[in-house]
Amino acid sequence: MATVTPADIQRAIRNIPDFPQPGIQFKDITPVLADPELFAGSIELLTAGFQPGQVDAVVGIDARGFIFAAAAAYRLRAGFVPVRKKGKLPYLTHEQTYNLEYGTNTIAIHVDAIRPGARVLLMDDLLATGGTAAAAAELVKKVGGQILEISFLIELTFLNGRSRLEGYPVRSVVVY
Ligand code: AMP
Repeated sequence: MATVTPADIQRAIRNIPDFPQPGIQFKDITPVLADPELFAGSIELLTAGFQPGQVDAVVGIDARGFIFAAAAAYRLRAGFVPVRKKGKLPYLTHEQTYNLEYGTNTIAIHVDAIRPGARVLLMDDLLATGGTAAAAAELVKKVGGQILEISFLIELTFLNGRSRLEGYPVRSVVVY
């Protein structure tokens, strides 16, 4: 099998204009997920440089972040922890609210999801304005996790989301 490159992944990402609302170009990753080589290659590129034993937990952001974080956790022999939209987690939670273009959103983590001092990778499919990832990083901090890196399959650099994640190493595989 030839090594998968970010360009291979980028070619498979489907652009959907005006979804879910006018003016948004949605990056559809389902063709990447459906391709055995590209899906495996995505996980390799998201976790390159980390070995099993170096990471305690991979935190995935609801919902597409779960797909990558769970596979990355398996590859690194780490635990998987979900950050979910408010009201979805059954046990005691910490919540974090952040601003959207119109209105706000609230995400949550179980209070005991991460052992204090645990080494954490935080993962989502896409970095846009950075609001979601910044809120998730706050939640990881609240439960005592130490973030080694925040990683995305896709980064929309023109939205400057990285500026919201200052102080954290940020990795993105495919950049627009
Ligand atoms: P943001 O908080 O602005 O960085 O938005 C990131 C979250 O919104 C991620 O969980 C993405 O899945 C989703 N998202 C934002 N913009 C897009 C887009 N153009 N295509 C697909 N997903 C997006």
